[in-house]
Amino acid sequence: MSNSFPAKRIAIFGSTGSIGTQALEVVAANPELFSVEILTAQSNDSLLIQQGLKFNPNIIVIGDERKYQKVKEAFSKMDTKVFAGEKALEEVAAMNCYDILLAAVVGFAGLKPTLKSIESGKTVALANKETLVVAGDIVMQKAVENRAPIIPVDSEHSAIFQCLVGETRNKIEKIYLTASGGPFLGKKTNYLVNVKRDHALQHPNWSMGAKITIDSATLMNKGLEMIEAKWLFNLKPDQIQVYVHPQSIIHSMVQFEDGSIKAQMGLPDMKLPIQYALAFPQRIPNKFPRYDLKKPAQLTFEDPDTRTFRNLLLAQEALNTGGNLPCVLNAANEIAVFAFLRNRIGFLDMTDLIEKTMNHVHFIEKPTLEEYFDSDGEARNFAASLIKL
Ligand code: NAD
Ligand code: MG
Repeated sequence: MSNSFPAKRIAIFGSTGSIGTQALEVVAANPELFSVEILTAQSNDSLLIQQGLKFNPNIIVIGDERKYQKVKEAFSKMDTKVFAGEKALEEVAAMNCYDILLAAVVGFAGLKPTLKSIESGKTVALANKETLVVAGDIVMQKAVENRAPIIPVDSEHSAIFQCLVGETRNKIEKIYLTASGGPFLGKKTNYLVNVKRDHALQHPNWSMGAKITIDSATLMNKGLEMIEAKWLFNLKPDQIQVYVHPQSIIHSMVQFEDGSIKAQMGLPDMKLPIQYALAFPQRIPNKFPRYDLKKPAQLTFEDPDTRTFRNLLLAQEALNTGGNLPCVLNAANEIAVFAFLRNRIGFLDMTDLIEKTMNHVHFIEKPTLEEYFDSDGEARNFAASLIKL
């Protein structure tokens, strides 16, 4: 590989998370290709400091303002600038000092800084699917207006993106989003009613942050990904088919108008889509383990059990209806998952909470950005009020 290219300057928003730490592994393995310009985290000050000392970024942001002093002091003898708070995240995202933003904050909190980055025409490597679920129309519109490329990091969407390289003029007939099925594949409602957080946090194929791990157990994750796919690839709801593929080897597929199907395969390891998004359009060598085609000998596909995992139906309803409904679904889901992780509600209660909130918040067909924020707030308040009762 030529050394004549300057290293890409990376801003990692959510650097202490599952995606963020794996991205730093990719950067560390390719120091000639990538340099770290910005690191941000919400509350894990110790890890953020450790990362800052190792990667020597220009800017660090700690979300929790109570931790500002500690982080500031850790970098007092260095050039690194330290900021704190939610607003700082947006201000830093708008700065002109980096080339690619890796959006790896979890949840609705990722939307505003990602929008700022897009508005300043930066390339966004998007892990934070909630950004597109909440306000996909506005986000994609702004990306076009500002010529800001959005490169998916979510493994399914990275797979589709990879299948579409060289196919710009060819129409997609359909995409197949694959789902592992999560830890409760094959289980029924009478089992799920008693499921506790620690059990739901055990994912068979992927090691991820707490929120997305619960979303994978309820199949909400696949619903959010259907909505994410709609916006990324400009699809109609009926062009998006979900299949449960428990081996997690085929990460998703594209079917073209001639019936030809392209799939992207590999072992389940998020470092691959992360590295692909950061290095795009190049592929860079690595020493990750390779998939042995003879093991497992069978790759299987089946319909998801939406009678049991009703979150997927709710997400499909939001996908079909559009407007602010996906935003409301997302907000209610964030409250539900948060409550479940704190043992405040049961596994199946999450679905009830989301459904009631979707029925409660008034529908807006073509929301403005402000109206999306309001719908998010309204949905959160209503969902939280249901838990207190
Ligand atoms: P995580 O919980 O492990 O990490 C989240 C990161 O965001 C942390 O650095 C945290 O400090 C930061 N953060 C949390 N709340 C914040 C807030 N309010 N403001 C600012 N920063 C905040 O999450 P993760 O598993 O790395 O997932 C990150 C995103 O990537 C999610 O949207 C998830 O859906 C998506 N994603 C993750 C995976 C995966 O394998 N982990 C795969 C596909 C997509
Ligand atoms: Mg995914």
